[in-house]
Amino acid sequence: MGWPVAHSRSPVIHKHWLARYELLGDYVLLPVQPSHLESALRALPVLGFAGCNLTIPHKVAAMELVDRVDPLAQRVGAINTVVVQGDGALAGYNTDVFGYIQSLIDALPQWRADQGPVAVVGAGGAARAVIAGLLDAGAKEIRLANRSDAKALDMAHEFGCLVHYVPWKERNDALDQIALLVNTTNQGMQGEPPLAINLNHLPLEALVSDIIYVPTETPLLAAARARGNPTVNGLGMLLNQARPAFNSWFGVMPSITSDLIEKLRATF
Ligand code: NAP
Repeated sequence: MGWPVAHSRSPVIHKHWLARYELLGDYVLLPVQPSHLESALRALPVLGFAGCNLTIPHKVAAMELVDRVDPLAQRVGAINTVVVQGDGALAGYNTDVFGYIQSLIDALPQWRADQGPVAVVGAGGAARAVIAGLLDAGAKEIRLANRSDAKALDMAHEFGCLVHYVPWKERNDALDQIALLVNTTNQGMQGEPPLAINLNHLPLEALVSDIIYVPTETPLLAAARARGNPTVNGLGMLLNQARPAFNSWFGVMPSITSDLIEKLRATF
């Protein structure tokens, strides 16, 4: 469910797994206006759905509408997955957290969150899932910068003492001695300018992660790769957030295979 929702690539992923695991079912896009979200969610059990994903703009509003919210999703402040329980009650989860961390592990199996300070750029909805995931994975220091300084300051305060607010104008210096840089803004997305950041202070061994997946190599990732840094794009997060959702509806933890990645890339 989203508004709009036509751009979503999730049907490609879930339909692929339904076929691969020979499950009877379907994954359909439901355009739902914000004012109809509650009735649409309540219709899920009536219509025989196992659950749904939620995308923009429903991830926050739905928290108040479901019967139960998983503690991790509560911390993130957003749900992207709803599961219909046996009695028809609705449970809300956030699988973006798993998706992000697993995408780093898939790309670099030896990656650890406590390898050094992390710099997160952006303080929107996706940043919340990234920060919650990094903290749960063991990050000891997260430096958070956002164009609108007040949002980074509030978010740092909310997530506790391991998250340090960095004023936007000091973001370049905050790359000093970090082990991971994450772009959670929309800068570098197709149709948007590149993220305005200078990598001069970035250690060469630091991992650079951009959660954007269109294009698969943003200007930030291209610049990082050119100077020798390892990089990870947002495709792995997109694919990995879908896995626990699929599992919660159908009881199978699906795998990401090269044919699925190819199918997904063909949609860009
Ligand atoms: P959001 O809540 O709207 O946040 C947007 C962020 O981008 C804010 O921090 C905003 O800063 C920043 N921003 C916007 N314009 C900027 C500019 N000109 N200069 C610097 N910063 C700017 O969006 P979101 O849901 O967090 O999504 C952010 C990105 O993550 C999108 O590109 C989305 O496609 C991607 N994403 C990927 C996945 C995945 O599975 N790979 C999942 C979720 C999201 P202000 O606060 O100053 O406006």
